[in-house]
Amino acid sequence: MPAITFRGIRKSYGDTPVIHEFSTEIPDREFLVLLGPSGCGKSTMLRMIAGLIDITGGDLLFDGQRVNDLEPKQRNIAFVFQSYALYPHKTVRANIAFPLLMSRFRWWQHIPIVGMIARWRAMRDPAIATRIEHIAETMELTPYLDRRPRTLSGGQRQRVALARALVREPSVYLLDEPLSNLDAKLRAQMRTEITALHRRVGASFIYVTHDQVEAMTMGTRIILLNDGVVQQSGTPQEIYDEPANTFVARFIGSPAMNLLPVTVQDGQATINGGTTVPATGVPDGSALLGVRAEKVRVAATGPGMPARVAVVERLGAETVVGFRLGLAPNSEEFGAAAVRDLHYAKLPGDAGLAVDDECRVLLDLSGACWFDSHSGARIGARKDVRVA
Ligand code: ADP
Repeated sequence: MPAITFRGIRKSYGDTPVIHEFSTEIPDREFLVLLGPSGCGKSTMLRMIAGLIDITGGDLLFDGQRVNDLEPKQRNIAFVFQSYALYPHKTVRANIAFPLLMSRFRWWQHIPIVGMIARWRAMRDPAIATRIEHIAETMELTPYLDRRPRTLSGGQRQRVALARALVREPSVYLLDEPLSNLDAKLRAQMRTEITALHRRVGASFIYVTHDQVEAMTMGTRIILLNDGVVQQSGTPQEIYDEPANTFVARFIGSPAMNLLPVTVQDGQATINGGTTVPATGVPDGSALLGVRAEKVRVAATGPGMPARVAVVERLGAETVVGFRLGLAPNSEEFGAAAVRDLHYAKLPGDAGLAVDDECRVLLDLSGACWFDSHSGARIGARKDVRVA
């Protein structure tokens, strides 16, 4: 199974750069997630790895060998797309068998009747039949082998698409938003299945998504892209705990990290013109204090900064409370204005707070981050954190 190396990889369409120079090493058997908003260049990266589009500059290496000029089929990769792209007129068995048959295909099998007989015989080859049955069992598709895709649910179809990718035993799997057509419950189930599959097959997976929950739950490593520029590369926990900049801080986590504007002087940060907290190592001037919602405590009374509740989302085991610092009444604006200056707390159980309530806010500053308010870069970022 190859380790994959990107060495100064670039991609442009005409004069328009889509991927800016990018270098990283993906160790063997990694579950790498390429994450970012729509249009940031995730699929372009995946297509370059697959060999479906040219690489404008730099070297792509599989186990130290340059593969820029190799044809897709010489790269031993399997591609699973967002749309299942199954053959509707073929059974599940024939769909799964297809890549195996294609790898044996000869020119004369294009001749109508000869080709049909050859495929019919190949399907009865015990090696192929056993392989399909084994994969079907792994993917829990055995009862459906003789059905056609249209008689299956979305999740079952996606499993057939995965089984079809698995059947060739490739060394790298490329998955392009494979769950985005599924409903929320099925997505959660398939996330678990794909992670288990990764552990079982012991190959490298490269998975594209715009969904940070998928990235956090499935990835052993995440590369977060924005506008073709890598913002950060690291384990899910590193990216969550130590975002390289405010883009990463806002993109990862639900709700996103709170970014409170502060004024720093002599190692003390003043929040909202009132409360002062220690800001060791943060230069004087304006900055942003990043605190995760689970580190914010909101209560109806007691110590803390005065604030007003603007949003209450009850999720059962926990409640997300959106608030604004200060006691000004909530505005009645809609859209972007309605969420401006909102900060969030994630509280266990039912917080006992309602919209428009006055409340008190306490910040637990363990694990807090500081950001430059102009560049957005993290202040005091660890040296091994990749900053764009
Ligand atoms: P993502 O997968 O992150 O949504 P893509 O990799 O599909 O993003 O696209 C990245 C950027 O490249 C987008 O701005 C898109 O419009 C542009 N792009 C993609 N394919 C082409 C193409 N064939 N010609 C020109 N521009 C393209």
